[in-house]
Amino acid sequence: FVTGKRKATEVAHAVWRSIVRKGDTVVDATCGNGNDTFALLKMVADETGRGRVYGMDIQDAAIDSTSSFLKMAVDSQEMELVKLFPICHSRMEEIVPKDSLVRLVAFNLGYLPGGDKTIVTVPKTTELALQAASRIVSSGGLISILVYIGHLGGRDELAIVESFASSLPVDTWVSCKFEMINRPVAPVLVLLHKK
Ligand code: SAM
Repeated sequence: FVTGKRKATEVAHAVWRSIVRKGDTVVDATCGNGNDTFALLKMVADETGRGRVYGMDIQDAAIDSTSSFLKMAVDSQEMELVKLFPICHSRMEEIVPKDSLVRLVAFNLGYLPGGDKTIVTVPKTTELALQAASRIVSSGGLISILVYIGHLGGRDELAIVESFASSLPVDTWVSCKFEMINRPVAPVLVLLHKK
């Protein structure tokens, strides 16, 4: 179901759709312009109003961009299911309620498209955020990390993500990587599935 997709983000969304159900709680660790937040909202929203999307970004500009996009694209009932925070994703445990069953934590690393390219995700906080995500994701849930390797620092970040992924205990986690091998600088998708 992923092999016909041309873009790594489309592959990621297809994987998310196979895991996420209506009414779930999910986390967007890098809101950016809100495309992933929107896709996640559509996956969890139903008429019961149980679904939740907790979104965060280090930049106020990204939170504003996500918020404006959602206000245009979804109705007020769906909008209430999204909670946006201008914080570093290493602090995600401060905003996701302790009793939540988190089905997915999604990372789309790098810089804000159309924004300040000097503000990028960096290995140190990415690693802390992955540790936090591994603590909050529920059994059967997924951590999805899209890593852009075409920009400066991208391969260092991939190294940290892979190091974290390979350190997870094999009895509770399945760690895998999706690469488009005929597109050498295409983003790499790392998937961490908690048993
Ligand atoms: N998911 C977004 C979308 O659908 O439009 C794209 C995300 S963009 C590639 C990466 C985002 O990560 C940028 O908006 C950037 O500000 C954000 N970011 C960088 N460092 C961060 C951090 N420590 N915590 C949270 N977000 C961060």
